[in-house]
This record gives sequence, structure tokens and C-alpha cells, in this order.
Amino acid sequence: MTTAPHPLLATARALADDLLAPHAARVDREVVPASHLAAIRSSGLLGVSAPVEYGGAGAPDAVAREVQEILAGACCSTWFVQTQHHSPVRMLARSALPMRERLLGPLATGELLAGIAFAHVRSFPRVPVRVTAERGGRRFDGRVPWYTGWGLNDVMLLAGVSEQDEVVFAFTEAREQPGLRASEPMRLAALTAARTVSLELDGLWLPEEAVVLRTPREQFALVDRPRNTNASPAVFGVAYAALRVLEEAGEAGTAAALRGPLDEVRGQAYALADHPVPDERIAERLALKTRSYDLMRAATTAAVVAGGGRAVGLDRTAQRLFREGMFLLVQGQTAEVRRAHLDALARL
Ligand SMILES: Cc1cc2nc3c(=O)[nH]c(=O)nc-3n(C[C@H](O)[C@H](O)[C@H](O)COP(=O)(O)OP(=O)(O)OC[C@H]3O[C@@H](n4cnc5c(N)ncnc54)[C@H](O)[C@@H]3O)c2cc1C
Repeated sequence: MTTAPHPLLATARALADDLLAPHAARVDREVVPASHLAAIRSSGLLGVSAPVEYGGAGAPDAVAREVQEILAGACCSTWFVQTQHHSPVRMLARSALPMRERLLGPLATGELLAGIAFAHVRSFPRVPVRVTAERGGRRFDGRVPWYTGWGLNDVMLLAGVSEQDEVVFAFTEAREQPGLRASEPMRLAALTAARTVSLELDGLWLPEEAVVLRTPREQFALVDRPRNTNASPAVFGVAYAALRVLEEAGEAGTAAALRGPLDEVRGQAYALADHPVPDERIAERLALKTRSYDLMRAATTAAVVAGGGRAVGLDRTAQRLFREGMFLLVQGQTAEVRRAHLDALARL
């Protein structure tokens, strides 16, 4: 017996084919348009993993992953802005603090779009953002090296570490305010369009009600670290998009030769991502993640090779996928992922 595909998959495909892919070359050179994000907000995709009782779809992780693949393969910049939103949704869904009732509904329905500023917590014992209890709330000081979606999203999930080695996550509006200043958007080799800035925090004060999670840093790391050992759906999305470019260039044989192993690695990586114990089989997860990078690199390289000199024109899909693939090699990178990837590259 087969089950009907989840309706949000058709929604994602329609958005990808009718809106995101046709404009991806222009977006890559400019900025993710508010109209793209408006379409995503009203599509229901922002609530794919959010609880039904808050207006979300409560879809299985397999559906959420496929949605991310479809969007990333169509316009990686737009994908990256919206993908930030899903961590705050998941965190709120697990929280028992009052912020859940205030924000989970608006985030699940797409009324509000969220970004995240928390990767820096992983650089402990370095503490780029320090949190201090002050005046019945929390004061944030330091520097957030990366914040994507500045000027495009509404609220930010900001994390820092306290003197007691607790990780504190709190929401604030994603705009300049006393104690929070943003750099100019960075010009990058890929995804400049996603408006990534760094943030200077100099006494940003947030009330206690803004806090959504407080947890000992070591405990947080136990949950957080294994997460990034899984292969990213965006890597598969970009790789499959490159195979389509190859097919359109008349290189169906090369595309087919890469599609087989890609399908196999995807199946194995997603099976492990669904494994009930997230910190088990880490070596296997890392090996599959590395293999997914290898196959993406082969697919995007083949798309460039098949296109000849024309492939490097800024209006060509092949070079864009190649650059987006480069970005995905470091997105969410941790020390463990970097080591595994470099060790695998050294064995080539
Ligand atoms: C274009 C772009 C946009 C991004 N947007 C966002 C965003 O919106 N929100 C967000 O939260 N992140 C964002 N990131 C960060 C991203 O997810 C990764 O964390 C980042 O790419 C990993 O590289 P890094 O520059 O932090 O590397 P590094 O600082 O080298 O850190 C890599 C890893 O090394 C380890 N490490 C680093 N320093 C130390 C230390 N002193 N001691 C021990 N271990 C250490 C940690 O495990 C760390 O995760 C963005 C990154 C890029 C490139």
C-alpha cells in the first residue's frame, strides 16, 4: 500500500518551479525579494514541522527534509533565509515557557519570520556572546559573527553563555535597537542575497519573558553536536538540481551514473537521521555526510564541465549551483564535522 504524498510537497514544488527557480539567477546577484518570502509565508511551508494546534502542519521529518531539498535546489538563497525559521519553531514547540504561547502561533502560520544567532555557542570555551542577569532580565554583550536574513525576517532567536555556563536562548526583534548594531550585509562568494550580517551586542537587555530555553552548556552540546553530523537535505537538493542541468545539457548518462549513488546515500543518511537515538552511530553519520558532499561536488562540477565556457556566465545555473555547493560545505560546520571531512578528503 502506498500513502499519498503530503500536500506541502506539491506546494513546495509549485513554488520552486513557478517562482524560485525562474528568478534564481537574478536573486543570486541581488537580494532575496520580500515577495519570495511573502509567498513562502502564505504557503504554509514555514509551519511544516510546527504543531497542528498552533496552526502548523505537524508533518513528519521526512516531509520537512524533502521540502528543504526542493527549495534549496530551486534558489539556495531563499532556502537559506527560510531555513533559519525552523529551529526557533522546534525550540518553541519543546518549551514550556510563556514565549511559546506568544510566538509559536505567529511563527507556525508565517505571520512572523524568524532568524537565528546561535552557531557561536559551539565555539566554547571561547564565549563570543556573554549573558548576564540584570534588572530582572538578561543582558547580552559580545559579537555574533553570522546572522542571516537581516532586514528580511522579523524576530531573532539569540543565544549566549552565562557566567554559570548556561546557554540562554531568547527572542528579540530583528532590528537595530539600544545595545544591538548590525554590520553591512556581507559580500560573499555565494548567498550574498541572503543578507548575512554580524551583530555587535553592547548591553542588549531583554526581559525574562523573552527567554525560551536555559540549559547547562554541556547538556546543550550533547543534544546539539550530533545534529550536525547528519547530512543536510540542502546538499541533496543542490546535487539533484545539478543533475537536471546535466540532463538538459544532453548528458543523461553522466547524470544517471551519479543519481544511483546519490539516491543510495540519501536513503541511508535519512534512515540514520530518523534513528531514535541521535548520538548513536556518529561515525556512520559523518561518513554519509562526507559522501553526500563528495557526490554534490561531483554533480555540480559535472554540470559546469558539461556547459563548457558558457557555464561560468553569471546567468548560468551550473556556476551558481557550484558556488552554492561550496557554501553548503561549511554551513553548520562543527569541529567534528570539519575533521571528518578533511580526513576523508586526505584519503582521496
Ligand atoms: C554565509 C553564512 C551565514 C551564516 N548564517 C548564520 C546564521 O544566520 N545564524 C547562525 O547561528 N550561524 C550562521 N552561520 C554560521 C554557520 O552555521 C557555521 O557555524 C559556520 O559556518 C561554522 O564556521 P565558523 O565560521 O563558525 O567556524 P569556526 O569559528 O572555525 O567554528 C567551527 C567549529 O569549530 C569549533 N570551534 C571554533 N572555535 C573554537 C574554540 N575556540 N575552541 C573549541 N572549538 C572551537 C566549534 O565546534 C565550531 O562550531 C553562517 C555562516 C555562513 C558562512
